[in-house]
Amino acid sequence: MNAMLESFHQPKSAKINKLKTLYRAIQKNGPIKAETLMLQTNTTHATCARLLDELQKNNLVSVKSSTVSTGGRKPNLYQITPDAAYLIGIEVTALYSTISLLDLHLSIKQQAKIKTAHFTSIYDTLDFIITETKKLVTTANLSFTSIIGTGLSIDDYFDSFDHKKNDLTTEIKTLEAYIEAQLPSKVTIGSGVNFAALAEYRLNYGASSRRFLFSTSDMELRSCTLTHGGTPLSSNGMSFTFGHTIIDSQGPVCSCGAKGCLRTFSSLPAIKAAIIQRVNAGETSQLSEVVSSIEEIDFFDILSASENGDTLCKNVLEEAAYYYGIALSNQIIVYQPDTVVCGGTLIPKSSFFEVVQRTIAERLAPFSGISTNVYPAKDSYDIVSQGAGGIVLEKLLRS
Ligand SMILES: [Zn+2]
Repeated sequence: MNAMLESFHQPKSAKINKLKTLYRAIQKNGPIKAETLMLQTNTTHATCARLLDELQKNNLVSVKSSTVSTGGRKPNLYQITPDAAYLIGIEVTALYSTISLLDLHLSIKQQAKIKTAHFTSIYDTLDFIITETKKLVTTANLSFTSIIGTGLSIDDYFDSFDHKKNDLTTEIKTLEAYIEAQLPSKVTIGSGVNFAALAEYRLNYGASSRRFLFSTSDMELRSCTLTHGGTPLSSNGMSFTFGHTIIDSQGPVCSCGAKGCLRTFSSLPAIKAAIIQRVNAGETSQLSEVVSSIEEIDFFDILSASENGDTLCKNVLEEAAYYYGIALSNQIIVYQPDTVVCGGTLIPKSSFFEVVQRTIAERLAPFSGISTNVYPAKDSYDIVSQGAGGIVLEKLLRS
């Protein structure tokens, strides 16, 4: 690996620490002017110039001319060199898994999407993923010496009340060690929503947002906050707790034992259950023609019926969106983010996002001092694996 990046792992001198701080500021905010960097890192003009020179000589930072002239000479802008080293980001799910080889801008250089539905244990899944990761690095004509580390999300294996918090921490360490024994790379296991939040922030909102809330609606409802682009705040394996915020204290009983949690209204299984119940109660739906018994419907059927204008499916999805919007507005009132991004399977489907956005706007109307923009996630299936790589870089540069 780039020798200077390697030294960032365990900085042994004040000088390396200063270089690392400056590099981190460029990575987070670049392309950036030297004057802004001096202010952000609290360094003098001479020191900043000397450190920038050293980062450039070590091929970690490059310089380009700004296209905007501030009267006279166009200022130089500093940015990190994306191919000074690489990252591996992996999203493991119980259906498909994605392995991405990324440069330091989190751009995908090489990628493999593999079917992992047929494995019954996490260890069998990991064995297959390790083999495929090695192949991917070889195909890219790289070796593991140029790779900073590997980030891995395994949300599907987290969401259970079976394990206590301590067990979970030990379990994650055991899995990390298992992979590190076979893959010559440092491994970080974490939650997919944390990774996705980090990648969305870095790729799309880094320049504009200081308080960032990311949320997804799928089988579970998850959320993650990032303040000043720092480390995602929810604990490993606990990002799904957003789904257990109570929306109606007299509502249906949830798997956690409480009544009326968000997931009993807005998760994919709740949506499916509501449709089955309403068809059985006599409401009409195209779905009755798709399957012989309404209990056989799957999520794909529901989403396509809704897009074909099925009123029942549309109504149930809009109700789910309404409750999701209420839960998000509760989060917004507490955390007061400037930016909220909603991701997950349902967001791009028919009117789901519109209803979420409208519900939030109505709920926040009396609180004019809270200024929050709500956006749908950029339509990318790679965001989790990109963020998994991002967390590896974040870990290296964290002071
Ligand atoms: Zn619950």
